[in-house]
Amino acid sequence: MKTLNYLLLLFSLITYSQTNFDLSYFLKNHKSYNQSIPKPSEFTLGNMEVGNSHISHDRLVQYMSALANASERITITDRGETFEGRPLILLTITSEENQKNLESIRTNHLDINSTKTIVDFSKMPVVVYQGYSIHGNEPSGSNAAMLYAYHLAASNDNELLKALEKSIILLDPSMNPDGLQRFAHWVNTNKSYNLNPDNNDREFDENWPKGRTNHYWFDMNRDWLPVQLPESEARIKTFHNWSPNILTDHHEMGTNSTFFFQPGIPSRVNPLTPKKNQLLTKEIGKFHDKRLSETGSLFYSEEDYDDFYFGKGSTFPDINGAVGILFEQGSSRGHLQESINGLLSFPFTIKNQLTVSLSTLEAAVEMRETLLAYQNDFFKNSREESLKEKNNYYLVTDQRDKSKLFEFYKILEKHQILMKKLPKDVIINNTSYSTNNSILIPKNQNKTRLIKAMFEKRKKFKDSLFYDVSAWSFLHSFNLDYTNYSTKINTKNLVLNKPTGKIINKNNYAYLFSWDDYYSPKILYKLLDLGLRVKVGTQSFYVDTKRYDYGTLLISLVNQKISTTEINNQLDKLSKESGVEFIGYKSSTTKGIDFGSNDFINVSKPKIAMIVGDGVTSYDAGEIWHLLDTRYNIPLTKIKKSNFSNQNLEKYNTIIMVNGKYDFDEKNSNKLKKWVENGGNLIGYRNSINWLIKKDFIKLELKQNKASTTYLNYEDKSNHFGSQLTSGAIFSVDLDKSHPISYGYNNSLSIFRNTNIYIKNDTLGYNNPLKYSKNPLISGYISKENLQSMKNSRPFAVYNLRKGKVTVFTDNTNFRAFWHGTNKLMMNAIFFSNLM
Ligand SMILES: [Zn+2]
Repeated sequence: MKTLNYLLLLFSLITYSQTNFDLSYFLKNHKSYNQSIPKPSEFTLGNMEVGNSHISHDRLVQYMSALANASERITITDRGETFEGRPLILLTITSEENQKNLESIRTNHLDINSTKTIVDFSKMPVVVYQGYSIHGNEPSGSNAAMLYAYHLAASNDNELLKALEKSIILLDPSMNPDGLQRFAHWVNTNKSYNLNPDNNDREFDENWPKGRTNHYWFDMNRDWLPVQLPESEARIKTFHNWSPNILTDHHEMGTNSTFFFQPGIPSRVNPLTPKKNQLLTKEIGKFHDKRLSETGSLFYSEEDYDDFYFGKGSTFPDINGAVGILFEQGSSRGHLQESINGLLSFPFTIKNQLTVSLSTLEAAVEMRETLLAYQNDFFKNSREESLKEKNNYYLVTDQRDKSKLFEFYKILEKHQILMKKLPKDVIINNTSYSTNNSILIPKNQNKTRLIKAMFEKRKKFKDSLFYDVSAWSFLHSFNLDYTNYSTKINTKNLVLNKPTGKIINKNNYAYLFSWDDYYSPKILYKLLDLGLRVKVGTQSFYVDTKRYDYGTLLISLVNQKISTTEINNQLDKLSKESGVEFIGYKSSTTKGIDFGSNDFINVSKPKIAMIVGDGVTSYDAGEIWHLLDTRYNIPLTKIKKSNFSNQNLEKYNTIIMVNGKYDFDEKNSNKLKKWVENGGNLIGYRNSINWLIKKDFIKLELKQNKASTTYLNYEDKSNHFGSQLTSGAIFSVDLDKSHPISYGYNNSLSIFRNTNIYIKNDTLGYNNPLKYSKNPLISGYISKENLQSMKNSRPFAVYNLRKGKVTVFTDNTNFRAFWHGTNKLMMNAIFFSNLM
């Protein structure tokens, strides 16, 4: 009897949790759909309805391919692959008739952005880019995308057929395939047969790093402007090739929240965004309001999130003539979870995403001519604004580093920004701009607003709270030389090729190469890995009239492990690949330190480990892994924090601790300290500094600001404390060029800071090789109190611990893969700390 009761109970739970919904839960009229179109459930685990399990990316791709095969309304494109080799697919969905003329529809559509003639919008389709689950552990979007695509392919409803005639839908079902896969694996493997909504369950507590990010742990939804990752590259190409009118970005937020759609907080809209954009966002919102209300879903808008940083999916479209819309669904983060609003089921979250996908299409079609006219006006107005700048350009160069300039060029190219060739060499404010190493960017061009958004510096803000960073100027993240420039000369379009280098004065004695190039660390590592002895010059010197700066590298060909011929062959290959040049000399004599001097010091091959795992900021760790692995080909061992006590640290000469909570017990702290004392090189970032001070690895004095709270209302409390956050701004730093941390740099540098840790300057001047400048703020928001703390403080410190070194940075030198300008600071700490 007991068993029977149990079985009955079990049965009722299963009934409740797994089979109480079918396709009708999502699509009421599906029985009238074209039955030859495959259903999503034919591709899900156990062929259960969508929402019973989490779709894996491979199954998603299988389904979308099958749909495209079966439906004349859908074409599927493979736009590249992720780091883990998953395809970045796009479905283009429209009427059968439009499918036949897709290319001419696309070019006609682009005309509204560029032609001066009046365009007849009455027959033009509206273009809608619908993108799902850019954060992999926010999967209701990608799961809803299957149902949405099914509906678009299979429904024969008249309204839908009309909508398809009037629209082109660019459906990006998974903007972060690697993250989606990681998360699906987690929840599916932790799912109980009887769904357990207890939020203490492991199902809702993902392993580090969570599925939010991509393979190298990047937040993909910050890369729309920098375009440093393959997933973004595919997306941005589609975006500019089509110039959509609406772009939607489907996310999830905390479990206790309901549903959010934009507009966001009005005071936090970027001032470069036209007012009309927000009005249209609001207008579109009415369609979501209607449909969500019909389904009985609670929602809100305008009270959360913002449209400030243009590197986000819902804000990037706003500076490109489109309307970007953010959706945030309260997350079940698994299959069923308790929340303050009752049990939140995965199918319910999927249903909401499906609902707003449909209401977006509805809005796009209803507002079609308004949206097309808005885009036309956006570009017409920006062309008019830019006419005032007819002969004006940004002139950009990097006097020391061709590779870095080329990486910058690639970003502009991905955004289809027009670039021109400088007609003749010029010197402006002591900076030489040469025709073959400069970029002229006309201010008078179609993308003038996007350019402004990428370059502008801003120090005044309406609001002091930011959902994301407050500054991102690419001229500064690349630390480029730039100026305004005017010329009436007709300039040619610029095509920069990837720099290639060569051996100059091939010989059997010695070569020098400069540390200035972005890829010099890659070369240095490769040479050390080949077993070559490479030395670094700790002084500047001249050979003939050529000046060699601090940090020049020397390869003598005498007494090396490999033959002279082999070394020459290797250098030739490396030079061609990287652009770094090797200059040969047949004598040690220089003006200054000779090649045989003791001031040329051997560089050791770095063997690097980084501590990762629970409590460590995965973004910061991922940035370093990505930099070393994909750009410099330097191996990095990722040591799990929880397993630290078992690892043999003797294998490494460098250990990196990024921002994070390091709650090591005494045994582990001592283990790490002993490793440093025996000659290890420990590099600490941001708040790891607090731990290093507490555990006596380093002796530093920190400055704190004293923001007054005396006259504060309770209501203003969160705004007040929020305004003390430095969420991301750009500062200028003065460098002592003779210090090894400054090798490869000039006298000043822009740096990105997103902490409030301020290290006091040392009383000994030479212990402060990097110092914030007198007026350090270049762009972004920082409170008065924090700016005060920054005065007489430094972003970097180095400390001797017996035979070892501890070097620390308060600022993030590797931020989001587009801070090329400061990557070398970390590489200097890796290669040259024994000189400090
Ligand atoms: Zn998200």
